[in-house]
Amino acid sequence: MKLIFEKSFPGRIGFSKPTDLFDDIKLEESIPIKYLEKNKKQLTEVSEVDVIRHFTKLSKFNYGVDDGLYPLGSCTMKYNPRINEKMAGLANFSYAHPLSFPDMAQGSLELIYRLDKLLCEITGMDKYTMAPASGAHGELTGVLIMRKYFLDHGEKRHKMLIPDSAHGTNPASAAMAEFEVVEIKSNENGTVDLESLSHAMDGETVGLMLTNPNTVGLYDEGIESIQKIIHDKGGLLYYDGANLNASLGIIRPGDAGFDVVHLNLHKTFSTPHGGGGPGSGVVGVKSRLIPYLPTPVVALEESSGKYYFKDVGEKSIGMIRSFWGNFSVLVKTFAWILSLGPEGLYECSKASIINANYVLAKLKEYYKPAYDRYCGHECTLTGREYKKYGIKTLDIAKRLMDYGFHPPTIYFPHFEPYADETIMIEPPESEGKEVLDDFINTMIAISKEAKENPELLTSAPRRTPITRTDDAMAVRRPILTYDDELRLKDELNYQEKDINF
Ligand SMILES: *Cc1c(COP(=O)(O)O)cnc(C)c1O
Repeated sequence: MKLIFEKSFPGRIGFSKPTDLFDDIKLEESIPIKYLEKNKKQLTEVSEVDVIRHFTKLSKFNYGVDDGLYPLGSCTMKYNPRINEKMAGLANFSYAHPLSFPDMAQGSLELIYRLDKLLCEITGMDKYTMAPASGAHGELTGVLIMRKYFLDHGEKRHKMLIPDSAHGTNPASAAMAEFEVVEIKSNENGTVDLESLSHAMDGETVGLMLTNPNTVGLYDEGIESIQKIIHDKGGLLYYDGANLNASLGIIRPGDAGFDVVHLNLHKTFSTPHGGGGPGSGVVGVKSRLIPYLPTPVVALEESSGKYYFKDVGEKSIGMIRSFWGNFSVLVKTFAWILSLGPEGLYECSKASIINANYVLAKLKEYYKPAYDRYCGHECTLTGREYKKYGIKTLDIAKRLMDYGFHPPTIYFPHFEPYADETIMIEPPESEGKEVLDDFINTMIAISKEAKENPELLTSAPRRTPITRTDDAMAVRRPILTYDDELRLKDELNYQEKDINF
């Protein structure tokens, strides 16, 4: 297949401008000189139908949740009911201008207000901000709230405790808020080591950022002691609730002693994600932290029954994003919660936990788990036993593509005892038993191939439009422009036949 750059033909264009209309307008007179590009860019010259066919072809190479199982651990790639999209697309929501007068946007404001109440009910928190645009953005917001709280109380705390099992964004967010990150080791059960924790927690430490079930899908039974250790030293407890798939209707972080929570509405709460968004990393806090929330929040004036934007006050960490968050995601979340109701949410978590444990039980004989215990919404297996046949977990993942599955997360987490050949599988609640059985049988078939016919794995995938790629190169040297492309082609001595379809 040709790249779109290669389809370029000098002078070919995708639209025709109205005749004469712009002929006497000179760009230099309409746009300040400093904003004008000095060198003429080498753009692709193609017709409209070329563009449509090119991207339609590419879209058929793609794999998404609408194609089949997408068991990417720590990601919650689930099917999202179309009704949510329909609701978000309602004209009064989708055309609402962020600068509308509150009087003209009462419905949108009411939705934000009521979603706040629902999320508080679900997580046991007291108030949410809807502003953050992603999980990592929510973390930064939450950590800045903790920072402001201590500054306001005249306390200089400069350390943040983070378990080795944490998602990589946790230490990154803490570092961005200028905290020194202190890593807490996991114990032999794969959860927080209480002794290391009490040793590390002191009056100079802000608190702990924790996920429960943690990033490898294990529930931390020590949570009661953990919260006591942190709170006894005046610290705050942060909950990374990016994924709530194992918790809905089962446990509320607020009840477990967490002071700040962020949720990825684009994971558990039914918004398609991947490819960069839009996301929503709403942050909930306990009442003593409300004064520090980003400003503004939506409030209800009881006397008039009207919703309005309320300034949070001088203690607020300020605005962390323009306007009111990724509103369409809030609409989808609201629709999803209302359509399921409390029982439905509980069923959702129950199903995702059962799914993960079903996969674990069926596959543990073939792909040894690091800890043999029940998991939450995802399970962590390993492909260690196949090393002796010259097979890496990467080969197993690639072979799955030949069978039409999206591979699970591999080589994460990277701390011991997981470090070796990890496979993290998250089969969300939207998947039925037949799909899981198909996946399980395929994984078992691959384990047999690994022993008897390893080259089937090392040469995989072969049934996909593009065969084995150099993943590292794709990240380090992305081809974003025509020049990148030319340079790389030159370097690699790339040939058309490398792309076989
Ligand atoms: C996905 C995830 C994040 C990061 O969320 P983004 O929206 O990608 O920034 C943080 N923590 C955990 C546990 C996650 O699974």
